[in-house]
Amino acid sequence: MASQEILSCDQLWQAALPLLANEVNAVTYDAFLTGAVALEYSGDRLRLGVPNEFAKEWLERNHGEAIGACVERVAQRPITLEMEVVPVPAPAAPAPPAPAAPATATVSRPKPRGELRPSPLNPKYSFDNFVIADCNRFAHAAALQVARSPGQAYNPFFIHSASGLGKTHLVQAIGHAILAEHPDLQLVYVSAEAFVNHMISCIRDNTIDRFRESYRSMDVWLVDDIQFIAGIEGPASEEEFFHTFSTLYETNKQVVIASDCPPRHLQLMNDRLRSRLEMGIVADLRVPDIETRVAILEKKALTEGVPLSRDILEYVAGKIESNIRVLEGALLKICAYASLNEVEITRGLAEEIIGDYSSSTPQRRIRLQEILDHIASELNCPADDIVSKKRSQDIAWARQVAIYVARELTDNSLAGIGKFFGGRDHSTVLHSYNKVADAIEHDEQVLWLINDLKGAFE
Ligand code: ADP
Ligand code: MG
Repeated sequence: MASQEILSCDQLWQAALPLLANEVNAVTYDAFLTGAVALEYSGDRLRLGVPNEFAKEWLERNHGEAIGACVERVAQRPITLEMEVVPVPAPAAPAPPAPAAPATATVSRPKPRGELRPSPLNPKYSFDNFVIADCNRFAHAAALQVARSPGQAYNPFFIHSASGLGKTHLVQAIGHAILAEHPDLQLVYVSAEAFVNHMISCIRDNTIDRFRESYRSMDVWLVDDIQFIAGIEGPASEEEFFHTFSTLYETNKQVVIASDCPPRHLQLMNDRLRSRLEMGIVADLRVPDIETRVAILEKKALTEGVPLSRDILEYVAGKIESNIRVLEGALLKICAYASLNEVEITRGLAEEIIGDYSSSTPQRRIRLQEILDHIASELNCPADDIVSKKRSQDIAWARQVAIYVARELTDNSLAGIGKFFGGRDHSTVLHSYNKVADAIEHDEQVLWLINDLKGAFE
């Protein structure tokens, strides 16, 4: 640690940098802090030179406190920090891609350098390869509509779920379908993290205007893992995201967003952004039941060209409940072992290989009574009527909707739901559910209605 003597401005800054490396993310550190120079230090004031206006604003708004605190720790006295722009010559070639950014941007056609970074959509993530089941029916139906008429009906389209339940698959499936139907549209798929990292490197290179232009001239913007927006850089990245989002949204360009939680739970500082995100269709993906897990594995085994007996598929599907990525990983592990060792895959072998995988299913805690009360008030139909034997059209519809929502949001069995909603048998419950599921596919009003009703429980 430094003594009470006044350090030279360079000594102070060089000693503060390693402390700062622990405080800010690696991209900011590389892009801005290593390039900043200490211009003057007088004992209670440090003047820092940064390469451009954007960097200055960025550092002041997002990291001013951290920089000040680290500098004070080194100097062991209070210090006022000032930043000013000291232009540096532009680099001869565009900077290399930001470190650690996942390769997740794709565009429908190549762009000049310094703009969007192309990287293809995964061809496996198509609608054809997506197994439709109760856990994803709503999201799938909405995704199909988005793909059919981008920018027209469901904008923005927001998909959320826990990890490994198919968000990226569905978002990219929309991308494939749009490109197949509308090859003239400019489409970009990007993870929020890659978006922010790219933005920071453009700020560093003084190409932020081009960055903005290229994003804002898109027709379809697919954004994955938006929860990172809040985590990476605070308000500045949110703001940049918000402006891109608003520009596209206001000109009826399609925006699709995937997230690990519903919009209202996103740790965003920008309330306008959050409410904008809530304004479109919000769909969730839930943990698939055992039959669906078997179906997914079956499809996967087929694509991989490995025929597996139903017994083995059921064993694997029973073992891993709550994450399809892990489920598929287990299957691949078994296949890889068998092919490496040139042995036949048997149930015993499968047990040996994935015997220690543990399973856990997240519990939903929404009560049927809450659903009934909410739907009664939203559809203006007394709760007593919904659970009665009355069959007038309005009441029957409210009941069907309530049953649909109950099945979507709770783990209750068909029989349990039937019993609650007026002692109905499981086939009536299934009929009601299917009727609403069908209406969602064909009637936009119903899709919006269910979207809003479900949204209340998030
Ligand atoms: P997330 O983005 O929600 O973390 P992914 O989209 O990466 O999840 O899905 C994880 C894996 O599970 C992928 O290989 C994906 O193809 C597969 N998967 C998820 N849902 C389905 C489904 N309904 N049908 C087929 N495969 C699925
Ligand atoms: Mg994903």
